[in-house]
Order: sequence, then C-alpha cells, then structure tokens
Amino acid sequence: MNIKKILANTFSPPVCIFCGKALSFTSDYYVCNDCALTLPYNDGKRCNICCAPLDMVSGDLCCIHCKTTKRWFAQNVSRYVYKDKVANAIKQMKFGKGQLWIADALGKFLAQTVKENYHNVLFDVVLSVPLSKKSLRERDFNQSELIANSVSAALGVQIRRDILIKPVEISKQSGLNFEKRKQNIKNAFLVKNDDFIIDKTILLVDDIYTTGATLNECSRVLRNAGASCVFCATVASTPLYR
Ligand SMILES: [Zn+2]
Ligand SMILES: [Zn+2]
Repeated sequence: MNIKKILANTFSPPVCIFCGKALSFTSDYYVCNDCALTLPYNDGKRCNICCAPLDMVSGDLCCIHCKTTKRWFAQNVSRYVYKDKVANAIKQMKFGKGQLWIADALGKFLAQTVKENYHNVLFDVVLSVPLSKKSLRERDFNQSELIANSVSAALGVQIRRDILIKPVEISKQSGLNFEKRKQNIKNAFLVKNDDFIIDKTILLVDDIYTTGATLNECSRVLRNAGASCVFCATVASTPLYR
C-alpha cells in the first residue's frame, strides 16, 4: 500500500464504521450508540468449539462439522454474525476505501472478545491467515493481517508475519461446499521459522469464519510444526455452512 493511501486511510474522519454516522473527534470506538446496541452480535446459542451460530432449539453443544471433523484449533471466537451492517463493514474493508481504519476498529473490537472469551489463556504470539504473493500483489493488502495488527496492539502480544505462509494460490473457496473446501485448502500453507513456534500458544486471526477449513488447515500445520495450542479469533461467523 503506498504512503498516500495509508495517510488517506489513517486520517479518515471519525465515523461509525457500520453506518457512516459522524462521531466526535474524541471517540476512539468507531461505532455509534445505535449500532453498538443493534449489531448482530454472535451471542446466541453457538457451537462451543467453532462458535458457529446454532439453532436456538438445538440441544447440541457443538455443530455438525465439529462433531465429524478433527479440529486442530482448540476453539474459535467470532464477535459478530456475518450479516447486515457487519457484512457491509467487512466488504467495505476488503473492497472499498478506508481499509486501514476499518480493520483497525474491527481489530480493537475483536480484541475485546478475545479478552472476554480467552481470559485465562496467555498468548505468545498473534498470527494471521496469509495470502499468497500473487493475491497480495492484486489486492495490495491482507485484511486478516491488518485486523491482526490491531488485535496484537490491543492485547500487547507480539505479531509475527514470517511464520505462516501460503506459497501458491489455490482455487477460490467461495461456491464450494464443506467437503470441497476442506480438500481445496489442504496443503495450502507452510510454516517457516518453526524453531520459534515450538511450544507456543498462538492466537490466529481472520476476518470471517465460514466452514473453518482455512483456520483448521493453518492450525494443522502449526501444530505439526510444534505449536502447543492454537486459538482462533474471527470478526464474524456465517450462519452454519453446509
Ligand atoms: Zn452506526
Ligand atoms: Zn462447530
């Protein structure tokens, strides 16, 4: 991202990232009172492993995918359900203007969720889901890394960008079902500098939790490289994906 773009992004006027309403210059929360009260928080019944929203009448503690698939991460938390104003803000971050400050705000909010849900976990490092060099060139930034930067700063836990890499591009995950996503993402990631990762407790950050295939595959390579535990944190979770 060039310096002009960074400055334009960083010094955007303080507006609510969810509805665009102007906020006072002293506000550092990036959310207006109306949105703060009405956003689709993921605080209903949810899978106790991957945090996917579950049917309120379901008697299950975890979703069908966590029952039938080995999870290499200990748990995922998602602050919101991926819909309405939250989906709009994430799309705006990825494809519109103002990527840096939206990602920064979403990261601050996500850090609160991490503190609330993982209050007894001591993290050694924050990692984000990497993009391939090709995607990074096309998009100019990695939204997961921008969010992870903000989470890392808010938690006071170091971030490392030289651990998890995606050597080549894979076909797009969107449009694939649960099983096909799992196959498509297999072996897409590598761990570099694995000396560092041994026995570490990792917080792995991404923007959206869909089937968990990507986070699970990242967690698998990290655990195989010697990480002791991987916890995931995502801004939003889609309703249960089939
Ligand atoms: Zn608002
Ligand atoms: Zn689950």
